[in-house]
Amino acid sequence: MSEQVDKKQEDKRKEQADELRKQLTFTFKNLWDPENEEEMKAVMAFCEDYKVALDEGKTEREFVDYAQALLEAEGFREYDSAGQLKAGDRVYETVHGKGLIAAVIGSQSPLEGFNLIGAHVDSPRLDLKPNPMYESDDLTLLKTHYYGGIKKYHWVAVPLAIHGVVILKDGTTVKLRVGEEPTDPVFTITDLLPHLGADQMKKKASEVIEGEDLNVLIGGIPFPGGEDIKERFKLAILKLLYDTYGIRERDLMTGEIEIVPAAKARCVGFDRAFIGAYGQDDRICAFTALRALTDLTEPLKRTAMVILYDKEETGSGGITGARSQLFPSIQKRMVRSILGREPSAIELQDNIEMSSMLSSDVTNAYDPTFASVSDPQNNSYAGRGIAFFKYTGARGKGGTSDANAEYFNEVTRLLDENDVPWQTGELGRVDQGGGGTVAIYQADLGISVIDCGVPVLCMHSCFELASKIDVYKTYVAYKVFFEKMRS
Ligand code: MN
Ligand code: MN
Repeated sequence: MSEQVDKKQEDKRKEQADELRKQLTFTFKNLWDPENEEEMKAVMAFCEDYKVALDEGKTEREFVDYAQALLEAEGFREYDSAGQLKAGDRVYETVHGKGLIAAVIGSQSPLEGFNLIGAHVDSPRLDLKPNPMYESDDLTLLKTHYYGGIKKYHWVAVPLAIHGVVILKDGTTVKLRVGEEPTDPVFTITDLLPHLGADQMKKKASEVIEGEDLNVLIGGIPFPGGEDIKERFKLAILKLLYDTYGIRERDLMTGEIEIVPAAKARCVGFDRAFIGAYGQDDRICAFTALRALTDLTEPLKRTAMVILYDKEETGSGGITGARSQLFPSIQKRMVRSILGREPSAIELQDNIEMSSMLSSDVTNAYDPTFASVSDPQNNSYAGRGIAFFKYTGARGKGGTSDANAEYFNEVTRLLDENDVPWQTGELGRVDQGGGGTVAIYQADLGISVIDCGVPVLCMHSCFELASKIDVYKTYVAYKVFFEKMRS
């Protein structure tokens, strides 16, 4: 009899604990729902568009070109800063071909602020040195200087493409894009054969391939006429470049030529759950933000704006980086165009201070193969949606913007109210490393801003991975932000 009473009490306590746990605890869930056919279709279709954007926009310039074409097709027109803007207008302005601002104008006064999403469109890569071409032992090569944080050993013995612009002596711009079409040649950086790799294999990973080893093979057939011809291998390639593009060696020195992986964006996994591609950091956020903007159909109260920056991977400096005054200047001119008069300095600052922003950048998805670098309870996971980062930085949060609790809560409450799931995270274990984003530069201006974005695996590699459900749900979150934040 008493045993039965004990059992009953025990069951009741368990039931109470379960109920309490439901009410009080919280975990982020995987968002794939294979039974939801409609959503599955939408996710897969959206990511096919995303693959096209990745393949067309392999450099910051190309992504801005891609964005411009998309915006034009969706009824946006180039912003004329001398003209007026009214609710419903769709405008964009490019920033030296490497950055972009696009906006859908809302009905509310600009002095009450805008809803902004910022992302960067530059990715780690190899740039040509100013004087890149040389021949050595019957091979013609290009010297490079890497851009952003790479593991140099990723870049050897893989097919590479050459993208960029060269300005000729007469001022004409030549766009280079070789290695992307199936009939194009590709380029590559040589690695040492394992048979002779005994010394190399003893080196630290950071020294296995050194910066000065990143030389791109571009030719091996000499200019005709025999061995007496000086630098005949280099000459043959220079002739080819001149005949095809009108490029001389001197023109290379002022150009911007980038070496990127030649592979296309692909679906990854038997179930095609992931997208694998070069340059998803941070075109994944640029694409989802742009599409959230172009897909807006209802009239807006607050003006919605996408800002695409260059130079994030080298610290956001330079005229096209997030620290450049060019971006806030365009925003100020738009305020003037909406008001239809010259705003005062304090009115411009009102617009900035009342604005709300998402600083959109990728983060690291938890990788069970490298579990030791992460705090599993505080990492973001592939498949669990858009990840919010209250802070970034290194060591004691050095170099972070650290969003206010009030603002973090305001944004996530909006998503909760609209059934958009989200997760949190931070970049690895404390003191393991760290990283920064552009958020700090908007915070400097006085804009409320928080970091968020898509978790990726293999970040900064030649083949970064993102879960398709995260790409899609991030787009949905951005659309809600544009439509409903403070509206
Ligand atoms: Mn990034
Ligand atoms: Mn990055």
